[in-house]
Order: sequence, then C-alpha cells, then structure tokens
Amino acid sequence: MNKPKIWLSSPHMGGGEQKYIKEAFAANWVAPLGPNVTGFEHDLETYLGKEMSVAALSSGTAALHLALLLLGIQHGDEVICQSFTFSASANPIVYVGAAPVFIDSERDTWNMCPIALEQAIVDRIAKGKIPTAIVLVHLYGMPAKLEEILELAKRYNIPVIEDAAEALGSSYKGQKCGTFGDFGILSFNGNKIITTSGGGALVASSKELKDKAVFLATQARDVAPHYQHSHIGYNYRMSNILAGIGRGQMEVLEAHIDLRRGMHQFYDNYFKNIRGATLLKEPTDAYFSNHWLSAVILDPAICNGKSSEKLRLVLEAENIESRPLWKPMHLQPIFESYPYYGEKTAEQLFNNGLCLPSGSNLTTLDKERILKVFNAFF
Ligand SMILES: *Cc1c(COP(=O)(O)O)cnc(C)c1O
Repeated sequence: MNKPKIWLSSPHMGGGEQKYIKEAFAANWVAPLGPNVTGFEHDLETYLGKEMSVAALSSGTAALHLALLLLGIQHGDEVICQSFTFSASANPIVYVGAAPVFIDSERDTWNMCPIALEQAIVDRIAKGKIPTAIVLVHLYGMPAKLEEILELAKRYNIPVIEDAAEALGSSYKGQKCGTFGDFGILSFNGNKIITTSGGGALVASSKELKDKAVFLATQARDVAPHYQHSHIGYNYRMSNILAGIGRGQMEVLEAHIDLRRGMHQFYDNYFKNIRGATLLKEPTDAYFSNHWLSAVILDPAICNGKSSEKLRLVLEAENIESRPLWKPMHLQPIFESYPYYGEKTAEQLFNNGLCLPSGSNLTTLDKERILKVFNAFF
C-alpha cells in the first residue's frame, strides 16, 4: 500500500514561523525566555481578550500543575475532574498529592454533566470532604455547559480550572474558552489546533498570578545575586525558539479554525444522511467550537451492525488514521479506585465513538479518499 497517510491531526505551519526563529538565532536568544516568549504571550492575551495574563510554558500538563499549586491544592485534598478526557487533565491532581473525583459527561457537549457534578459536590461535602477545585474540559474544542457549571462552582465556592488544551479559539456566548475559570490552560502539542512542537500556557486573571506562575516555572529563585530558594521550583518555561513557532502559528489560527470547521461541515454533510450516526455538534448558538477534532458516534443497532471500531479498521486499511474517543478516567487501571459520579454516558461515548481526520491541512483529494471509504462502508 503506497497511498500517503492521512493523519487525524498533524502540524500545519503557516510560513511565518521561521522568521521568528531566525530572529531568535540572530539575537542569540536561545533560552527559556526572550522576545518571542513575551511576544507569544502578548499575542495570546490579545486574542483571548478580557485582560487575561498568559504565561508560556513547556506543556499544557505543566500549566495544569501550576494552576493546582497556585490554588494551594495539597496532599489529602480532593479535586473534581471530568472523567471523559485525556489523562493529562487528571495526572497533575496526583502530582500535588490530591485525589481526583471523577464526573460523567452529558450528551449535548460530551463534557462534564452539571447534574452529576452537583451530586458529587453534595455527597463529598456530606462525607466531610469539601472539593478544592473543579477541572473542567472543553473536549474536541466543544465548550462545556459553562453557565450551569460556573453557577454551581460559585454557589459552593469552588475554584474552576478550565482545561482548554483542545479549545483555543472556541467560545461560549462570545467569550473565549480558557477565560472563564480561575485559571485556564492551553496546549501547543504537535496534534493541537496550533503547535509549538510541544508547549502550553497558563491563562491567569491577573499579572500578579502570572508572575507567581513564572516564578515557580523558573526554579523559584528568590531575588538575590546568588541562588537563593524558599520554595520548591519547576523547570516549566517555554523556550524562545518554540515561542517563535507559536508567534507564527498565531498568524494563521483564525484561518485554521475556519478550515477545521470546514472539515466538520464536510462530515456533517455526510452523516446527516446516515441513520444511527451522530456527529458532535454545537447544541445552540451560544456554543462556538474550533472543531479541533470531528467525532462521530455510531449506534450499531441502528446502522446494521456497523460499529465505530469496524469503521476505524476500514479507514486504517486505506492508510487513513482515526481514533477511538478518550477512554474515561474512571475506567483507567491507574484511576479506578477513585470516586466516580454519574451514569454510563462517558462509557457509551467511548464504546461507540470515533475521531475522524480533522486537520486544517487536509486536501480535496484526502476528502475524496475518506468519502470513498465511507460510501463503501455504509
Ligand atoms: C493535550 C491535552 C493536555 C495536555 O497538554 P500537553 O501540552 O500535551 O501537556 C491536557 N488536557 C487535554 C484535554 C489535552 O487534550
């Protein structure tokens, strides 16, 4: 088989990235600080609006770790976390010695179910454990039910960390994802909507909090001519070279969101005629998804036994990558002993869902190849 691989989501450079990298080399700013880092942060702050302060970091996981530290989460605490997500949403909870409490999803956005969330909060409080934070995820770029969840967080006085790793450019009622919570986190990993090859950012509501994050991310050096430390530090800052890629990528972000949304439209045109197939879609006009990944659920009982796994295999045979949805955290061997609230929605999504090739760089020819497989399969 010599057909070129069609990837799920691959890096898509805009062309401007190398200019910023050349500048960094010319000035010998090859370090985890410099004008590209400041410039990339400024670009993100301008883009997100709401006067947020952004710290560019080595990964989204590092950003989540710092958010938990800045909220003072510590050993013995409990942190509520969406179960249907990538493990990087939950791992940092364990880094700080806290225990995750997992919450099911709802059917409209596939994100945290507000009903299960309230059940969990009430039950944990009754058990004498007041949750110390909520990690909310906007999966595949789809904003979660922010209004309901923020209302609960406010009522019970629990801070929210928005995991917007997959949702840069998505918005809810016109406000950008990542700017609603006490902290937001972004990822620029290779498969995300824009990439720095690897990287992330912490979105904070004040310059003071951003400065604290940068302090922790640069080994927590006190102000002194020698190396003086009164905190445990981390090496989490983004390099000036990678931030140069980020600046170039910001120039094409809007165009790439349009292209990803175009891929979603392409799948919608196809699946609206397939009984038993449900594409993840914006539930109302309040939701705007960057459609980082287009994902579909197949109900084999309605689609003549055609399952998402069978579709994955026929795509793979044509060298087309697709991937099952995230396996919920409460079903992962490493997390199965932690509490879980909800029913089986996340589990059903995992069992019947598939992420489809969604890159902003897919060609007309790629789409034709995908359609050909679909037509033969359905
Ligand atoms: C990618 C991702 C992360 C982690 O980001 P990294 O930059 O890879 O550390 C966290 N949460 C979600 C939902 C992600 O998709």
